Amino acid sequence: MSSRPDPREVYRRLRRAVKLRRQRFTTLEAGQDIFAKAVATILSQNTNDENSIAAYQELSRNLEVTPESMLRIGLEELENLIRRAGLQRQKARAIKNLAKKVVEELDGDLARLAEMDTEEAREWLLGIEGIGKKTADIILINLGHPTFPVDTHISRITCRLGITDSRRYDEVSKAWIEALDPSQYHDAHLRLIAFGRTVCTSRNPRCGDCVLNDICRYYSEDGQGCKA
Ligand code: SF4
Repeated sequence: MSSRPDPREVYRRLRRAVKLRRQRFTTLEAGQDIFAKAVATILSQNTNDENSIAAYQELSRNLEVTPESMLRIGLEELENLIRRAGLQRQKARAIKNLAKKVVEELDGDLARLAEMDTEEAREWLLGIEGIGKKTADIILINLGHPTFPVDTHISRITCRLGITDSRRYDEVSKAWIEALDPSQYHDAHLRLIAFGRTVCTSRNPRCGDCVLNDICRYYSEDGQGCKA
């Protein structure tokens, strides 16, 4: 297969084929508050939904998830509360670093990032130790900024399809940003994740049942390339 699939066509098919079970997504545990969502997003790094949700619930049972309370709590105590999410040392530090910068520079209101332009807000977040591109983009898209967060499912699907030749974050994110309308980014992001969990799984993808198999490079090349 020489031509690349059009991401717009991929999205059009996924809208029909993928049902969203929104309650499964970790950040929704945190309700509408953007700081609480950011904390939930940090907890979800490198773990599954079950563990990150359990860690968030344990944390929020013990204290309000606000920048001020995250600053007040001791580092070790915070680590203990979020232990279930794994990597608790790094994650506790990232949460505290974020809380400190929010209190010092945004008067305690992370939602003020919505007033900045997207690149400025992204740089602001990436300046925090422990906040990477994916976490920054998830926070920003939840504030209405036109970002396209890429997780392991999205990078795998995008590369397998042949939309990109690598799974590199910037390349994958850019491919979707350039093809879709900004109003579609969040929905496409969620549908790709759901698709990666149910059909285009890391091991043994269900290619025979897949609505994209006629335009998929991985399928046409019999499982070669971007296997991860
Ligand atoms: S055909 Fe297979 S590899 Fe290609 S998108 Fe579908 S499930 Fe994934």
